[in-house]
Amino acid sequence: MSQKLADNSHDPVIWRCAVPSPLRRHFDYLPPEQWTGTARAGARVAVPFGKRAVTAIISAVTSESSVESSKLRPAKALLDEQPLYTEAQLSLLIWAAGYYQHPVGEVLPLGLSPGERRGKPERPTGQTGLRLTARGEGLPDGAPHRAPKQAALITRLREGPVTLTGLKSEGFSRPVIAALVDHSLAEAYDCTPDAHWQVQSPPLQANWQQQAAIEAIVATSGSFSVHLLYGVTGSGKTEVYLQAIADCLRRGQQALVLLPEIALTPQTQARFEARFDAPVVTMHSGMGDAERDRAWAAARQGRAAVILGTRSSVFVPLRQPGLIVVDEEHDAAFVQQDGFRYSARDVAIKRGQLEQCPVVLGSATPSLESWHNAEMGRYHRHSLTERAGAGSLPKQRKIDITGLELSAGLSPEILHQIEQTLTQGHQVLVFLNRRGFANALLCHDCGWSSDCTDCDARMTLHKTPPGLHCHHCDRRAALPHQCPHCQSGRLVGSGIGTQQTEAFLTERFSTFPVIRVDSDTMSGRSAMPALIERLASGEPVLMIGTQMLSKGHHFPHVTLVAVVDADALLFSPDFRGEERLLQLLTQVGGRAGRDETPGEVLIQTRHPEHPLVQQLDAPYHFALPSLLNHRAQAGLPPHGALGVVRCDSQNLQEGLAFLSQIKGDAPIFAGSQIIGPVPAAMARRKNRYRCQLVVSASNRAALAKIIASLVAAAESTGHSRHLNWSVDIDPYESL
Ligand code: ADP
Ligand code: ZN
Ligand code: ZN
Repeated sequence: MSQKLADNSHDPVIWRCAVPSPLRRHFDYLPPEQWTGTARAGARVAVPFGKRAVTAIISAVTSESSVESSKLRPAKALLDEQPLYTEAQLSLLIWAAGYYQHPVGEVLPLGLSPGERRGKPERPTGQTGLRLTARGEGLPDGAPHRAPKQAALITRLREGPVTLTGLKSEGFSRPVIAALVDHSLAEAYDCTPDAHWQVQSPPLQANWQQQAAIEAIVATSGSFSVHLLYGVTGSGKTEVYLQAIADCLRRGQQALVLLPEIALTPQTQARFEARFDAPVVTMHSGMGDAERDRAWAAARQGRAAVILGTRSSVFVPLRQPGLIVVDEEHDAAFVQQDGFRYSARDVAIKRGQLEQCPVVLGSATPSLESWHNAEMGRYHRHSLTERAGAGSLPKQRKIDITGLELSAGLSPEILHQIEQTLTQGHQVLVFLNRRGFANALLCHDCGWSSDCTDCDARMTLHKTPPGLHCHHCDRRAALPHQCPHCQSGRLVGSGIGTQQTEAFLTERFSTFPVIRVDSDTMSGRSAMPALIERLASGEPVLMIGTQMLSKGHHFPHVTLVAVVDADALLFSPDFRGEERLLQLLTQVGGRAGRDETPGEVLIQTRHPEHPLVQQLDAPYHFALPSLLNHRAQAGLPPHGALGVVRCDSQNLQEGLAFLSQIKGDAPIFAGSQIIGPVPAAMARRKNRYRCQLVVSASNRAALAKIIASLVAAAESTGHSRHLNWSVDIDPYESL
C-alpha cells in the first residue's frame, strides 16, 4: 500500500469509514482537530456516531465527500499507524459487502481478530523496522537543530535501520519516532526475515493423474486461475494439495486451506502438520479469543506458513499468499446462512483474483456451479478417477424395501450383511440422516402430535436423555406419559431416528460394539479423535450415524456402508435437493473399502426405478448434465442468478405487507421476476413468522440492480422494531 502523505494543498483530507451500523453505506469524517499526520486505508479509528464513540475502519482516504465539509465531524483518534488490513484483504471485504449487499460496517470487522475488533492493538511482532527516507538521508548533520531528540534519532538511523522495539529499548520515544515519520524523514517498514520453509516428510510418489494436477496448479502460481480437482473419494486429493502447497512454501508464500469442519477432521490437520517443517495454524469456532488473536497476527505477519480454517478464515489477512485451497467445495458448511450471508468458496475465488494466486476447489462431488464453470472453460478441471494407495471403489447395490418387514428401519438382507461383515472382522457404517429416537410422538387414540409451540414443526422424541426436543428452535420438553389431549396412555413414536436404530442394533449384535455418531454424541472436541483412534485398531465395530459420517473421514477398516432411508432425501422441495442427495450418498458410500478389502454400499429404497437412484451406480458426474439441464430450463443457478429477501416478524401479515410494499417499485428486466411475497416453507420458527421474496434474473447484473432497489426501499420504509429483513444472494436454499 503506498504511503499517502498528508496533503499540503487545500484539498480537505477525508476519512471514509465503515462504521458499525446496519446501514449499507460509508460515513465520512475529517481527521481529528490539529491533525498533521498521515492515515491509511485499513487503519482503525475512533469516531463519534450519534451520541456514542465507536471504533470504525478507514476504507479510503479521499478528498471528496457528498457531505459539505463544514458538516463533517472530526474523528476522535487514529488507532493504528500501520493498517491492520492488507490491501487485497480490504478490497475483498469491500467487494463482499457490495456483492452480498450487506452493511459494510458489519462486513469489514470480519477481517480483524476478536481483540482487534474491540480496539486492542495488534499483537506486535517486534519486526517493524525504521529507516531513513531519501529526504532524511539528505539532511545536514545535526539537523533539525530545533529538535535535538529528532536529530539524535537521525544520527542513530544513519548507522543503519533498526527495529522499533530496539529503538524503544535504546530510549527513543514514540513521539520522536512519529515526528520523523510525519515529516517523511524516516519510514516504517516490515523487516520480518524471509521465510524459509521446508517439506518435512518426503511426499508420496504421486500417480500420473495426481502429478498432472500438481504440475498444472504449480504452473499457474503467481497469477489467478481456478482449478477444479474432481477426485473420487480416497483418490488422493489431499496429496495434491500438500504437494502444491509445498511448492508455494518453497517460494516463501503462504497457503490458505479452507475446510468445511476442523474439529471433526483431526486427521487432516495431523497430515498437514506432519508434512511441513513450517508453522501450520488452524482457525475454527472452538478457539478462544486470545488463541484467535495470536493465529490472526501470525497470518498477517507472515509467520504462519499454512492456515487451515473454516468458512470465516477466508477473510484472514495474509502477508504473502501464494495458494488458496477449498476442500469439499460443494459442502453447505461454506455457506453462512444467517446474518451476513456469503459463500466462502465464492469469496475465496474472488480473493484469488485480488491476490493474483491460484485457487484449488477439490471434491468427489463438485457443486453444479463449479462443474458448469469447468464445462464453460472458466476453470481448469483435473480428474482423479482411481483410488490412490490400496483402496478400490465400492460396489453399490439397491435393496427394494417395498412391502418388506423392517426392524428399526432395516431389512433382513441388510441385517444379514451386517452380521457377515462383523463376523469377518470388518467395520460397518449404517447411515440414517435423522437424530433422536423418533421424528415425533403421536397419540394412537386422538391423533395428538408433539408439535413445537414455537415452530411449525414437530418435536423429536429422544430416549437418551429422555424428552422432546425441537431441532429447529432447540426447545426441550419433558416426555409426557399420557396424551395431553385425551389422557390416553397409547403414545407412539413415528419415524425412525438414530437412537432407535442404535437401540435395536445394540440388542441384535450384542457381542460387537455399537457406536452412534451424531451431533448429540459428538459434541465434545475430543469425541471425533477418540472415535477415529478406536476405529484405527481395526476391531469389528458397528457405527450408526448421520451426515456427520459423510465428511471426508478416512475409515480404512469400513467395508460395508448401509443407507437406511435414501427416499427421505429423494423428494426434497428445494432446488438443490437432487444434487444434495447425489452428493450425500456418494460421500457416505465413499467411506467404504478405503483399504485392501473391497467395500460394498447397500441402499434401501422404495423407488429403485427413480432416475436419480438409478444414477447412483454410475460415476457421480454422469448425472450432472441432466441436473444442469433441469436448472437451465427453470432458469436456476448456475443458469441465471437467484437472490432472496427474507423477512421475519411477530405476525405474518405484517411481514407480507412489508415485502409487498418494497416490491412495488422494483425494476423488471427481460428474463427476471420477483416471486412473492410468500410464507417460507417453515412459516413459523422460534415464534417468528417468516416470509420472503425470491428474485430470479438471467444475469448477475440484473439481479444486483433488482436487489439494490428492494434494499433501498426496505431501508426507507418504516416498519415495527420487531420486523427484521435480510438479503441472501446466491442462496443455498430458496425455501
Ligand atoms: P481424498 O482426499 O481424495 O479423499 P486422500 O488424500 O485422503 O484422498 O488419500 C486416500 C489415501 O490414499 C490416504 O491414505 C493417502 O495417504 C493415500 N494416498 C494418496 N496418494 C497416494 C499415492 N500417490 N500413493 C500412495 N498412497 C496415496
Ligand atoms: Zn390423545
Ligand atoms: Zn421449535
